[in-house]
Amino acid sequence: MARIGFVGLGNMGGPMARNLVKAGHRVAVFDIVPALAARCVEAGAIAAASAAEAARGAEMVFTMLPAGQHARAAWLGEGGMAAASAADAVLVDCSTIDVTTAREVAAGCGRPFLDAPVSGGVMGAEAATLTFMVGGPADAFAQVEPVLKQMGRAAIHCGDAGAGQAAKACNNMILAATMIVTCEAFVLAEKLGLSHQALFEVASKSSGQSWSLTTYCPVPGPVPGSPANRDYVPGFSAALMLKDLGLAAEAAAASGAATPMGAKALELYRRFVESGGAGKDFSGIIAMLRAGTS
Ligand code: NAD
Repeated sequence: MARIGFVGLGNMGGPMARNLVKAGHRVAVFDIVPALAARCVEAGAIAAASAAEAARGAEMVFTMLPAGQHARAAWLGEGGMAAASAADAVLVDCSTIDVTTAREVAAGCGRPFLDAPVSGGVMGAEAATLTFMVGGPADAFAQVEPVLKQMGRAAIHCGDAGAGQAAKACNNMILAATMIVTCEAFVLAEKLGLSHQALFEVASKSSGQSWSLTTYCPVPGPVPGSPANRDYVPGFSAALMLKDLGLAAEAAAASGAATPMGAKALELYRRFVESGGAGKDFSGIIAMLRAGTS
C-alpha cells in the first residue's frame, strides 16, 4: 500500500485514480471540478482541499491534466504541488504535453520527476490496460513501475526527461498518417468496385497491414469492435488526435526534423475538426476523404 496523490480526475484521471484505490492504495484526490473528486471519494479515495494538499505527504504524486500550461501551473505555480510534496516523493505527469514543457517542469521540480503519457484511451483507463511511455530517472521509474502496472498493462522506460512525451508524439504521428492512408485505400477500393471485406482480407495478411486496419478498421464490418461500427463514437476523438499532431509538429520544428507526412496529417485533421468532426472518432475522417472524391 502506498500513499498516493492524484490530481486531474477527468475522462482518464478519474478511472486511473479509482483503479489505484481498487489496488489498495491510500489515494488523496483533487480536481477543480468537485463532482469529479466526489466520484473517486465514493470509490474509496480521500478528498484533498487543493492540488498541493493532495501532494502533501504522498510517496507518489500523479497528474492527468489537459495540456502543458495546466501541468506547469499545477506543479510549479503558486501553491504548486512540487514544493508541497515530500523531498523524496516521485512526481509523475501522465498528461500528454509538449516535450519542452515536460523537460522544464522536470528541471524545475527539485524532485524525481517522470513524464508518463499514456495510450489506450478511456477504455484503457477504465480497464487498467493503458500503455505508459516514460521519461526521467531510471530509479524513479523502477519505484513507480509496479503502480503504473496497476493502471495499465505496459510501462516502457524511454529515456531521460521528455522521452515519454517524445515517444507519444512520434507514435501518434505514425497512427494519424496510417489511419488516413488506410481510409484512402478503402475509398479507392469503393471507386474500383472492390469490397471492403476483400481489401481487408488481403491487406490484413499483406504488407499494408497496420493497427489502423486490423484493430481499428475505419469501415464497418471487418472488425466488429471498431468505432466505424457505432457511427464513429470515440474511442479516440479527432480533437485529441489534432492536439497530438500539433505537439508532434511543435517538436519537429523545435528539433529541426522534417516531417512532411506528419504535417499533411495535421492539415487534414485540422480540416476535419473545423468541419464538425471534433467529437467523432479519429477514424471518422474517412467521411471527409470520401466526400472529397469526385
Ligand atoms: P479531461 O479534460 O477529461 O480531464 C482533465 C481534468 O483536469 C479535468 O477534470 C479538469 O477539471 C482537471 N483540471 C484542469 N486543471 C486542473 C487543475 N489546475 N487542478 C486540478 N484539476 C485540473 O481530459 P482527459 O480526456 O482525461 O485527458 C487528460 C490528458 O490525457 C490529456 O493530456 C489528453 O491529451 C491525454 N489523453 C487522453 C486520452 C483520451 O482518450 N481521453 C487518451 C490518451 C491521452
